Amino acid sequence: MAVRQGSLLLLLWVSALSAQAPSATAAANGDAMVVCGQQVLTVGHADAGLELRRGDRVARLRLSILQGKGWATPQPCAEPPALTNGPERASAALSFAVAGDRRLELEATVQRDVPAVFVVSRLRRLGEPGDDYYYWSCDWATDRFASPEAAETPFDRAHWETLPARDWLWLPHGGAGLALLPTNTWGHGATQAAEVGCFIQALPRSVQVGRGDSHDASFGLAIVDEADGARACAAAAEAHGLPVVPTGPPVDYGQPAPDWLRSVEQYQLYYRPAAQWTDTVVMSTLARYPLILGSTPDKAALDRCHRAGIKVLHYVTYTCLLDTARQVAGGGQVYSEWTESIDHETRDLRDHPDWICLDADGQPQRDAWGKEHGHPGLLNTCLHQPGLREAALRQVKMLLELGFDGVFIDLAGPTPECHGKHHHPVPALTNTAAWEQLQADIYRLVKAYDPQRIVVQNTVTGIMGDHWRYCDAQMLEGRPFGYDSAEATATWAELNWLRLRQADAVRAGKVPIVLTALGKQPLDRVADAALYAYASARLAGCAWADNLSLDERAETRPLSIELAAVRLGAPHGPAERVGGVTVRRFERGLVVVNPGASPAEATVATDLAGALNDVGHGTVAAADGRVTLEMAPQSGRVVSAR
Ligand SMILES: [Zn+2]
Repeated sequence: MAVRQGSLLLLLWVSALSAQAPSATAAANGDAMVVCGQQVLTVGHADAGLELRRGDRVARLRLSILQGKGWATPQPCAEPPALTNGPERASAALSFAVAGDRRLELEATVQRDVPAVFVVSRLRRLGEPGDDYYYWSCDWATDRFASPEAAETPFDRAHWETLPARDWLWLPHGGAGLALLPTNTWGHGATQAAEVGCFIQALPRSVQVGRGDSHDASFGLAIVDEADGARACAAAAEAHGLPVVPTGPPVDYGQPAPDWLRSVEQYQLYYRPAAQWTDTVVMSTLARYPLILGSTPDKAALDRCHRAGIKVLHYVTYTCLLDTARQVAGGGQVYSEWTESIDHETRDLRDHPDWICLDADGQPQRDAWGKEHGHPGLLNTCLHQPGLREAALRQVKMLLELGFDGVFIDLAGPTPECHGKHHHPVPALTNTAAWEQLQADIYRLVKAYDPQRIVVQNTVTGIMGDHWRYCDAQMLEGRPFGYDSAEATATWAELNWLRLRQADAVRAGKVPIVLTALGKQPLDRVADAALYAYASARLAGCAWADNLSLDERAETRPLSIELAAVRLGAPHGPAERVGGVTVRRFERGLVVVNPGASPAEATVATDLAGALNDVGHGTVAAADGRVTLEMAPQSGRVVSAR
């Protein structure tokens, strides 16, 4: 961000305030204190509460951590704070036990020349993977905010408002204001009171957290007199890379995915019975993509795809299987994906009552999706059962022998616990841990068969670091647009976080993949949404699919075809912010995202010359080493060499 003209005085003011060295100290009671100029932050050892003080003005922040149907409070910090004091930067780190075999790690940092305090919180899962959600709430009473876009905006106090991340915010109250430098969405509750506080979301809002991984929040805070003070704080902070967006812990990535997968830019899903894999469909639609995830084990369909140069993975899942007797008795249909599925007879739960996952009341645990979609016989399984494990590995081996290029494992995340009184060979393992061991066995089987064949896991809502060593790719489904509505399922802050968080995985040769659903996007918005989703995925090094949702509508089929023909090639460096847009350049093109709520003019340097293909927009000319694009709000652009 450029510091605006006329802010020299502010910079002098900033320097004067923070001339003294930053410091971190511990009090006798175990609280930690970090100080930069007049900004003093105390981290409470008893409950991880934060108190920011400047003179007699105080802002207090509290954590709300979801635990079951209620909220958990951190246990008092058992160790004294870990302090670091350098000439440029000082920090204090504290750690707190949290119910659910979790740990809260808090780090407060101050930096010379930045008159603000910075907080990173990490809620780490020590045991089982699971879903986590938390937020910080602040008691700073205000009813409006200023941001880079607007001098002052009143809160809508009749409703909860979740507001997008901005470079800085200023929340005025009583002659001063709280400067908030968020890295995620923030907002306030519904209240009729004259003045309300605010909350700050952890990144992303709620997430499936793997073993050892953490759910993080990060932000900067200062009490300043004017909105320009918040602006100056943000500029000074950015110059020092603050606030940091937390990245993950060190991960064992195992072996890299084969090169062919790492060069896949787009793929598709095609869950149709064998009769629909005709020559026409394969040649006119599927052949636009190098990789298809399918669910028919038809040898002729597979051969047709291979002749067209398409690799095909077969869908498998083992956390829920069909009990065909129960399905029919309950009024459901035995669907074609089941009857077509190879060796399905040996996996029918009708014949294996001991494979059924039982809930705490001893009742068969019905699959959540099946419950909503009229499949009374679709039941969760007990992944401990040796017979089920043998059947799973047998099916995968049969698919490999048929010639499939690997398997797509659906529902690869946590699965319901089994409370069955039947035998569990290793009783200490949870059902999720048993499932993870089976997935690791599947990966070993596939790689032993042929290292060029692959395993893609659908981890659905969050990429799991500790799964990377036994898969080539992990899928995030319904991101940033889902099946149920046109609303985004992930904010720009979350997409940006995904990019930073998965950069190491991509470097290690693993492939995060995104599945976007565009069917609910209105026609006047669908092209912008599609290009936004595609460009965001490519910024993060993810392969992208839209489940053929653009192809399904006649109006958007030309865009689907044009987009599928794009081959950007290897990236030239990471994503970069240029003004209000984010850009990434590739061998044969570039992608741009305008995440903002306003139109933006993007002027992007490029090595490409002449008339370029501006996907969905016609042609754009590169002149004097750059292209200029007029971008709609929340849109993306894909520019490629012709
Ligand atoms: Zn069991």
